Amino acid sequence: IKDITKIYRTGGEPLVALDKISLSIQEGEFTAIMGPSGSGKSTMMNILGLLDRFDSGTYYLNGKDVSHLSDNEGAHVRNKEIGFVFQSFNLMPRMTILENVELPMVYANVPKKERNERAVKALERVGLGNRVKHRPNEISGGQKQRVAIARAIVNTPSVLMADEPTGNLDSKTTLDIMRIFQELNAEGTTVVMVTHEPEVAEYTKRVVLFKDGVIRDDYPQQQKIL
Ligand code: ATP
Ligand code: MG
Repeated sequence: IKDITKIYRTGGEPLVALDKISLSIQEGEFTAIMGPSGSGKSTMMNILGLLDRFDSGTYYLNGKDVSHLSDNEGAHVRNKEIGFVFQSFNLMPRMTILENVELPMVYANVPKKERNERAVKALERVGLGNRVKHRPNEISGGQKQRVAIARAIVNTPSVLMADEPTGNLDSKTTLDIMRIFQELNAEGTTVVMVTHEPEVAEYTKRVVLFKDGVIRDDYPQQQKIL
């Protein structure tokens, strides 16, 4: 992204949430986005995930200019190239675990049989092959987050984005999640995640620090391997 500015105009004074942010993330990186509450981390993730628009600047994803896509085009690119994991899981409560993971493939018109096979594989991948028939309220928080990760990776995205994916989890479950991210990253998936926990950021290869809508610091680090 280059010179990305995002202004919220929800009543009262306009708020500059991102002030000409430029950031380049290469294929295969594993980056932690850090910084205080309100510094613009989620705003940037939502833009990177093509979930929100910005006021000025440019965004190139996998060599393609995705700065000015229509909602439909944005949804198409997102479904194909991006996996997004939310802090609050965002699972569909009435659907089974399996149906939740199948959902991105429903949007992509994948035939039922293949959908089923790929969803089961993704769930096995995150250690939940024995929970396919359950509904979200019948599993733990850490398991919900693993379902959300299975859903995010089921279309084999080139980039996995996560906004505080371990924010609601205990430390053991947090390590389980980070181990899955490291495995996916080792297989070539680019991972970008927000965390406010320095111990969690140690499992990534690079830290980008936000402050008041700008990038304050950006450094590579020795990655702690799980
Ligand atoms: P946290 O660590 O608490 O999640 P953050 O770094 O993710 O914080 P953002 O959610 O990006 O911060 O918010 C950046 C600024 O933009 C904050 O001042 C916030 O109040 C404001 N903001 C975020 N979303 C909106 C919105 N939809 N409408 C108006 N203002 C918003
Ligand atoms: Mg946030």
